[in-house]
Amino acid sequence: MTAIIIDGKATAGAVREELARCVAELKDRGVHPGLAVVLVGEDPASQVYVRNKDRAASEAGLAVSTLRLGADTDQATLLAAVEELNRDEAVHGILVQLPLPEGLDENQVIEAIDPAKDVDGLHPRNVAALTMGRAGLVPCTPAGCIELLDRHGIEIEGRRAVIVGRSMLVGKPLAALLLARHGTVTICHSRTRDLAAVVGEAEIVVAAVGVAGLVKGAWIRPGATVLDVGINRNEAGKLVGDVETAAAAERAGAITPVPGGVGPMTIAMLLRNTIIAAALANGLDAEEILASAAAAR
Ligand code: NAD
Repeated sequence: MTAIIIDGKATAGAVREELARCVAELKDRGVHPGLAVVLVGEDPASQVYVRNKDRAASEAGLAVSTLRLGADTDQATLLAAVEELNRDEAVHGILVQLPLPEGLDENQVIEAIDPAKDVDGLHPRNVAALTMGRAGLVPCTPAGCIELLDRHGIEIEGRRAVIVGRSMLVGKPLAALLLARHGTVTICHSRTRDLAAVVGEAEIVVAAVGVAGLVKGAWIRPGATVLDVGINRNEAGKLVGDVETAAAAERAGAITPVPGGVGPMTIAMLLRNTIIAAALANGLDAEEILASAAAAR
């Protein structure tokens, strides 16, 4: 078998076109969705991410502003900046780019963000909402994984899903989302015994670890769907995922490449969260606005 390659770049492009229509519709109703990104320090990878987010948000018609603070910014200054964005009615989504420079308390900063503007979905209120099956803002990468499955007709209900990685950013929220869609979910981590056997049972495998080629092609159950969240650089400086893609593609039914798989969906979901936050802040039905843009596709 040779797997279908799930083209995340094309899918994200389609999502972003729909979202641009949502933004236009919101503007017709007098709402201009605004995203504020806070970047502290000079981390080169973060600079690239923030530039990409900025461009994608502008292309979709969002009002986007980036607040750049020096690496020597102290906690009180950062918290004050977040408070100001919380109060700013033109800002519907706030994203503080992580990781923060050493010495700053990430948890305290995340908790300072108004949960209604927390487009990263990391505030404890949103984490609780997700776990409890209530409405809230969902972390972007896991939301992107679900969207990829849905848009490729890959069923979740009743199926066996195995997630490798238990981070707050990817593994745990994705488990909650798959569970909410009636998947049977197992989360593996660095202490899991016989990872090969657990992964081998999965109809849906998600790798979110950050170790190149950790998930071997030979582990994949024939016909399984494989989502590779990992972003690593190999010795040659090339971007690679956590899965041995070529070998896994021999057995899988469908697989995401790296780059061009899950990654592009993350930014698209950030835009979606900002639109949802803007709609809700103005008493509008976010689901209805998203559905009408999707129906037009
Ligand atoms: P993390 O470091 O916070 O978590 C990694 C997880 O992997 C931990 O739960 C750990 O228990 C588990 N783990 C470590 N070694 C393991 C092993 N040998 N076997 C099994 N599990 C093991 O990382 P994260 O923030 O969740 O990110 C994971 C990867 O996904 C990274 O490569 C990151 O760059 C990438 N990522 C990509 C996107 C995207 O948009 N595509 C977004 C977020 C993260």
